[in-house]
Formats: sequence, structure tokens, C-alpha cells
Amino acid sequence: MQIDLTGRTALITGSTEGIGYAIARQLASAGADVVLNGRSDEKTAKAADRLKGEGVKGSIDAVAADLATAAGCGALVARIPHVDILINNAGIFQPIDFFEADDEVWDRHWQVNVMSAVRLSRAYLPGMQKSNWGRVIFIASESGFNIPVEMIHYGVSKTADIAVARGLAKRMAGTGVTVNSVLPGPTLSEGVEAMLAEERAKTGKPIEEIAAAFVKQHRGSSIIQRAASVEEIANLVTYLASPFASATTGASVRVDGGVIDTL
Ligand code: NAD
Repeated sequence: MQIDLTGRTALITGSTEGIGYAIARQLASAGADVVLNGRSDEKTAKAADRLKGEGVKGSIDAVAADLATAAGCGALVARIPHVDILINNAGIFQPIDFFEADDEVWDRHWQVNVMSAVRLSRAYLPGMQKSNWGRVIFIASESGFNIPVEMIHYGVSKTADIAVARGLAKRMAGTGVTVNSVLPGPTLSEGVEAMLAEERAKTGKPIEEIAAAFVKQHRGSSIIQRAASVEEIANLVTYLASPFASATTGASVRVDGGVIDTL
């Protein structure tokens, strides 16, 4: 299967690093014209330079915008009025016990993880519908099914992402636009590396080993018993973004290493 996305424009939110950057690299390698996004001008421009240096086929644009706010989403849409592929990847995760998590924690997770995707879907879906082709992919999480006890606020935001994606798929019924959510399990992104930094400094062990120990301790049902790589997530997303995935819509597709223990 040769995936060719030449002539399609793809926006990947929160793509200066981590899973988002890996998705951007794969989509651009498949020929898509890619728009990167992060919060700071400097980091976003740096990510664009890095991607250009990786010999990808598609063109690279970059827009700095804080998608936690309606104004930030509006500024992004004003700069990039149409996309064929929208990857709602920007997300935050912070382990905080339920009794320590105040309204601000809940609001922040809700704004970044859910409302950014809601606002951008509202802005871009009509254009996709008009051209009768489009792909919207929400990077949710297995945590949307298995609510993690150490970050209930995060799990709830990811359940909401899955629900919005399902609803939007139905809203686009009968068009060439598909909407899906992707459910990664623990994945060795920069964000997760930062979360494990203390343990790494304490033990001096390689990050993969520390991540595998985290997976065994906190996601005991994992069948692969390790963290996934960002490329493993991007592989699935690239397929779902391609014309080959035209009969997959309204789905929540797992790339969780088997963490969700249901058939
Ligand atoms: P990361 O922290 O490595 O990268 C996050 C990216 O989002 C960065 O580019 C950051 O600049 C951007 N970002 C954060 N807040 C933003 C905002 N307000 N506006 C614009 N950009 C913003 O994260 P990651 O681990 O690569 O996670 C990416 C997505 O995958 C998230 O939605 C996350 O919930 C989901 N996910 C991650 C894992 C995992 O284990 N890494 C597992 C399941 C799901």
C-alpha cells in the first residue's frame, strides 16, 4: 500500500514535538503539505526547520497559536482557512490526585484537550464537506476508556474527545469526510519523558527501561509491556488520514499495546 497525500493540506495541532511531530513527519513524507502548530514562535519555527531538514516531500508551514483559547484557534483559522486533514493532537496530561485537582486543572485540560478540537472541527469541517473529502482525527487515549485514577480530569477529557469524534462522524453522514479517534497507550513522547524525568535522574536507567517499568506498574494490562514509539502512533494516523481508510468513520481505533482489556 503506497500512501500518497500529494495535494492535500494537513494541520497537526501541537506538533512541535512528541506524537504530533511524528505525525507531521509521516504525513509530509507521504506528500501532504503540512502546517505545524505550537504555542511559541521560536519553538514552532524550530520544528519547521527540523522537518524541512528531514527530506520530506510536502511543503511545511508553521503557525504559533495557543489553542487553549478561542482567540488562538481563531488566529490559526484566519491564517489557514482550509485544510483537508485535521489532526487534533494538542493535549496536556498532568497526574494530580482528584482531591488536589482544582477547577483550574479541570478547565485547563478541558480547554486544551477538548475545546481546541471542537473549535477547529467547527471551523474546518464545512470546507471539507464542500469539497466532499476530508479527514478529522482526534488523538484521544486509552485513558478515555480506562479512566486513570491518578488523572481523572485527563481521562474525562479524552472520553469527551471520543464522543465528539463519534458525533461529528454521524454529522458528516453521506459525505466523503471521515472523523475518527485514535487511542494511543503510553507512548514515549517528549511529554512523557518529562513526566518520567525525576525517576530517570534518580535511577540513571535508560528512558525506555523506565517507561517499560511505568507501563507495568500503571498499565498492567499492557500486552506489549512497554511504551510505544511516537512513530508507531503516526503509522496508524497516516493510514486513517489516507484515501485507503474511506470506510472507517466514527471509530475509536486503538494503538494502545493491548492496554484496553476488552474484545
Ligand atoms: P507532548 O507533550 O510531547 O507534546 C504536546 C504538544 O502539544 C507540544 O507540541 C506542545 O507544544 C503542544 N501543545 C500543548 N498545549 C498546547 C496549546 N495550548 N496550544 C497549542 N499547542 C499545545 O505530548 P504527546 O505525548 O506527544 O501527546 C500528544 C497527544 O497524544 C495528546 O493529546 C495526548 O493526550 C495524547 N496521548 C499521549 C499519550 C502518551 O503516552 N504520550 C498517550 C495517549 C494519548
